[in-house]
Amino acid sequence: MPMGTRSREGIWGGQVRAAKMNAEHARQRAIEAAKLRVRQMARAWSLRMEGYGGPAQPSPTIGQCLNGGLGWLDVECNRCKTRASLPLDAIRRPRDTPIWKLEAALKCRSCRKGRYAPPVHMIKLTATQEITSYQWVHPDEER
Ligand SMILES: [Zn+2]
Repeated sequence: MPMGTRSREGIWGGQVRAAKMNAEHARQRAIEAAKLRVRQMARAWSLRMEGYGGPAQPSPTIGQCLNGGLGWLDVECNRCKTRASLPLDAIRRPRDTPIWKLEAALKCRSCRKGRYAPPVHMIKLTATQEITSYQWVHPDEER
């Protein structure tokens, strides 16, 4: 070890470590802030959907919802009013797909007749499954 290395480490090492720690803390705070932003955005979207029936656009993406801890999408059949909670992590779509784009792919199993199914609408995003019945055709089940 060359002369001076130890004292240089003594002078700068602590500051370098502190700076690294601060950077790491800032990164963690940014992640938390982003999650909070997504939750607020998803909550605002949910209130708009539940309270006013839309508009569904713009909406958070699948990935944003999952990262924000909102893994469930509540939907309702326009015909029979059956509701269901759909797990977002089971939907095989790119994670940057906006939630509103899923609506056209959702179908109510009991109202479906062959290729035809009445439209459905999305109600809200939730952190946990609120409705247990899963009477719905999965968006990827058939084309
Ligand atoms: Zn139905």
